Amino acid sequence: MSMNADPQELAKFGDLAHKWWDPEGEFRPLHDLNPLRLDWIDAQVRLPGKRVVDVGCGGGILSESMARRGAEVLGVDLSVKPLRVAQLHAMEAGLANLAYREVAVEALAAEAPASFDAVTCMEMLEHVPEPASVVRACAALVKPGGWVFFSTINRNAKAFLLAIVGAEHLLKMLPKGTHEYARFLRPSELSRFARDAGLDVVEFKGMEFNPLSKRYRLTADTSVNYLIACRRPG
Ligand code: SAH
Repeated sequence: MSMNADPQELAKFGDLAHKWWDPEGEFRPLHDLNPLRLDWIDAQVRLPGKRVVDVGCGGGILSESMARRGAEVLGVDLSVKPLRVAQLHAMEAGLANLAYREVAVEALAAEAPASFDAVTCMEMLEHVPEPASVVRACAALVKPGGWVFFSTINRNAKAFLLAIVGAEHLLKMLPKGTHEYARFLRPSELSRFARDAGLDVVEFKGMEFNPLSKRYRLTADTSVNYLIACRRPG
């Protein structure tokens, strides 16, 4: 099977892996976002005791926080260094209900279909050559009645200005070259991938960054960063 991954993207995350858990470092936006998305996911899934797979988990910011809420979490990624960082961090925290694996989501879906109560795939689709294939694999991994969550960046002039010019060049919140405009996904495109994969699209939420307070909040405005909740019919 040819791999649905971009080696340059994986290397980019590998090179920064040692900074993953620095709350002031290159991954600060993920740290700042995490409480919001965690609460949103938990409200729908009710994490305690649930089996969750976190696709494109990186250094494990979301995976670990879901495990702390009592879910049994598997984090998967194709970049080795972030996975090592994630594993080490989980070991130090003594979390037994958290495991990590280097495996493509498509391969995992073939190996363990319909095995998870929830699938999370955050800030990952915009780094992948064929996002629709990832969405299909996520849909295959979830049990009937289970939840699938994605987050990514919209593709329009405002998203270009805020997510690339603003975040990478002006505010320097993210390293230059973190995001490529052409890989951003409109909510309409992501919904179509989800529906084509047999999922019901339940909800969209915008995640808005306030550069003055440096805080994120959930809004109805999906014009830049957004989350989508889907459900596999039961
Ligand atoms: N989901 C995490 C990390 C986001 S960073 C969070 O939101 O906190 C994007 C991650 O996607 C990186 O860890 C990168 O290695 C991973 N990634 C990129 N392409 C991938 C692919 N084809 N398969 C799996 N993971 C991939």
